[in-house]
Order: sequence, then C-alpha cells, then structure tokens
Amino acid sequence: MTFIEGTGRDQVSLLPPCIDDYVGSDALVRVVDAFVAGLDLTQLGFGRTVAAATGRPGYHPGDMLRLYIWGYLNQIRSSRFLERACVRDLEAMWLLRQVAPDYRTIAAFRHDNPEAIIAASAAFIRFCREAGLISGRLVAVDGTKMRAVASPKNIAGADRLARDLAHTEKEITYYLDRLDIMDEAVGQGFDDQPKHRQAFTDAIASLNRRKDRLARRKQYLTDQDERVMVFGEPDAKPMGYGHSPKMPCYNMQSVVDVDSGLIIHHDVAREANDSQLLHPMSIATMEVLETDALKVLADGGYSNAQAIAKCEHDNVEVAAPIKRGAMSADFFRPVQFSYDEPSDTIRCPAGEIMKPSGKHTRNRAIRYRTSACGECRLKSRCTPGAQRTIHRLVDQSALDRMEARIYADPSLMVTRRCTVEHPFGTIKRMSGGGRFLTRGLRAVKAEAALSVLAFNILHAVNPFGAERLTPAG
Ligand code: SF4
Repeated sequence: MTFIEGTGRDQVSLLPPCIDDYVGSDALVRVVDAFVAGLDLTQLGFGRTVAAATGRPGYHPGDMLRLYIWGYLNQIRSSRFLERACVRDLEAMWLLRQVAPDYRTIAAFRHDNPEAIIAASAAFIRFCREAGLISGRLVAVDGTKMRAVASPKNIAGADRLARDLAHTEKEITYYLDRLDIMDEAVGQGFDDQPKHRQAFTDAIASLNRRKDRLARRKQYLTDQDERVMVFGEPDAKPMGYGHSPKMPCYNMQSVVDVDSGLIIHHDVAREANDSQLLHPMSIATMEVLETDALKVLADGGYSNAQAIAKCEHDNVEVAAPIKRGAMSADFFRPVQFSYDEPSDTIRCPAGEIMKPSGKHTRNRAIRYRTSACGECRLKSRCTPGAQRTIHRLVDQSALDRMEARIYADPSLMVTRRCTVEHPFGTIKRMSGGGRFLTRGLRAVKAEAALSVLAFNILHAVNPFGAERLTPAG
C-alpha cells in the first residue's frame, strides 16, 4: 500500500491549451462575468467607461467591478490580496483576461465609485425581480453591527476628555515642579543635572502636545454637537450589546425576501438603535419592489410606536413583538389595564374607569388616572404612591394591532428569524468576521453593497442555477 503520488514537477505535460478550460461551466465566476457584461456601466455612474483618446490606456471599470465581486465572493477584499490573485488565481486570470492591475488602482476604483457600486448591487436585484425570482410577498428586516476601522481607544466623550485633560495638566505641573526644585538646588550651590533637566523638558513638551490634541477633540465634539465620537473614523459610533464593551461600529440593515431569501434592500446607518430605521427601510423596499403595499417582519428592536403608525399610514403592515421595559412583579402590570377606544378610557383591575389627565410630551404619551385610588381595596397591589398612573402612547393602537398579528400567527417570528439572520452570518463569514476595511460612511456603504451583491449571487445560484442568472441565459 502506498500514498497517492503527484506528478513530477519537471514532467512535461499536455495541459489544456486555454484558461477557459480550467474554469468549470457552472463556476460562479461565469455568473459574475455575465452579470457585469449585461450592465450599463455609464448609466450606473461608473467613471472612465469610455477610453480617453490620449494618454496611457486605463483599466476598464467593468473588469475592476468583476474583480471586486469575485473577490468578495471568495473572501478576498483587500486591494493587495486582489492584486496578488490577478497573477496567481486561475479564476481571476480568466475573469480579467490576464490583466493585472496594481493594488493602488484596485483600491482607487472602490474609493472613487461607491454610488455606482451600490447601483450595481441594486441592478442584480432588479434583474432577479424581472426574472421572477423575487415575490416580495413578505419581507423581514434586521440590523447587525459591523466593526469600523478604528480602535476602541479612539472612542471619546466630553466626560472622558475632561478627565484626560485634567490628568495631563496634573502631570505637566508635576514636571514643572521638578524643574523648579532643580533650579532651587542649583541656586543653593548644587551641581546642575542637564540629563534630568532635558528629560523633564521633553516630557513637558510631549504632554503639552497631548493636551493640545485633547483640547482640539473637545472643541470638535462641541462644534459637532455630539456627546461621544470615534476619532479617526467620525462616521462610526460606539455600539454594543448589553453590558459588553462598545466598539466603533456601523449598523448594517438588510431587508430579505422571505420566499427567495435574497437581500432586496440594504443600507448602512450610523445610529446604534434600530427603532428609527423601520420606516425608511420599508419605504425604500417598496420603491425597489415597485409596490404600494408591503408586509414586514421585524424584531422587538423596531417596535417604535411612532414609526409603526407611520408605516401603517404608508401601507406597510408590520409584525413585530412589542419591546417592554422591566416591570415590578409586586404590582399590576399595564397589560392588566384594558383600554376602551370609543370612550378613550382605561378600566383598571378594580373596575374603576381611568380618564385622560394630561400629556407626557417627550414620550408622546397620555396619562390616565382615577380619583378612586384612595379608597381602593387593591391599592397595595397597584401602586406604592397616592394614585396609579397609566401612560398610554399616542400611537399605542398601532402597536396593539401589530402585536395582534403575532398572536394570530406565532410562526411569523420563526419565519423572521430563519429568513433574516442567516444572511448576516454568511456576510460576516465572507467579510472577516464582520469588519469593514475602508473608512467613512460613503466607502463603507460601497463595501456593504459588494458584500450584499456577493451574498445575493451566491444565494441565487444555488436554487436557481447559474444559467438562469446570466442575462443571456
Ligand atoms: S389603585 Fe386605583 S388604579 Fe389601582 S386598582 Fe385601585 S382604583 Fe384601580
């Protein structure tokens, strides 16, 4: 018995005569090639789509787009790695017909064409929709945090900057005192210590530079009217879950078609909280689907009463659980108070009628109270105060209708989870654990578009086949 032996490196072979023979007929790279060939790059907004009459010939933007889509599909996102792939990966050599741009040219293409790259990603969804692959019957929305190119050490708020400034000033004072002590010693006839003097002077100069930097950051925070910023990547925000440390991140949002599993719309937001994003994401999805009504599944993070009411107004039917705050188990819960819409009153557990008695403007809520609390036999189970107050949101009815949809069909939440969470898993796997490589919201959006396009191509090929996905197919 022996092991499988390879062929000798000096063995003369009759290899296939052209690179095309090395690329399988159903390889993803052929889908990428055919997809880009079918795009109107000028209309999408790519620069330099027509060769200049003079000067050195440039690379065709179609080739650069092909390279990036193929790279994101194969977890090669860095311009230097893509440069290497162009000369040693047969698929890349086939795709670019052995053209080998340098890494600066590759990086410049992504940097210069973010909007066009986003448009190309949207063009794939348009193509899938026209090919009948997307129904748009029901969609699910969700968000995930993607790491920005910044260290958590660069996160600073006004409090921390003030603390660091005070500490730096204290250190400067310490070294100035050392210099004074040395001057006194010299005045009393002791030898000067030039080495120490120089070290203290250098330390003071360094601390002064630090102090200036901190002061500039503090001023920048004031000018931008921000509480906290990520210096070096000001578009990112500190984000995290629960009590875990907050990292500089972007919030990537995606809307997935339940039937096909394709991401039909995505965006990158700076807000950590999803609650304000439901309405804009839904409206943008309706535009993609060219429809005037939409059914959306979402998680509790999106249950913002005002946003849900706005969605209802625009024909977007949302199904999501209501996010409730922690409630004391010692007292009656708000759900034990039943609202009567025609009379705009609330019946409490003791059967008393609570009427509107003022507004909570900031929370957009109405207060309901009854004067019967003082005499109530259930008061000890209802409130520790003189009177129980129930706050009902102005848009609470929209929230209640939304929750009723979940109660009517609890499987909707399972559908949501199975639909929208796994694309993020795939995208994070393809993008180094969910890290962007570029800085600034504009560039990050282009990266997200490439990740989504790669995911959609990968996901569409499996059930539908490579032939059906090529515009010529
Ligand atoms: S304390 Fe007031 S609100 Fe609570 S059950 Fe009694 S009457 Fe109703």
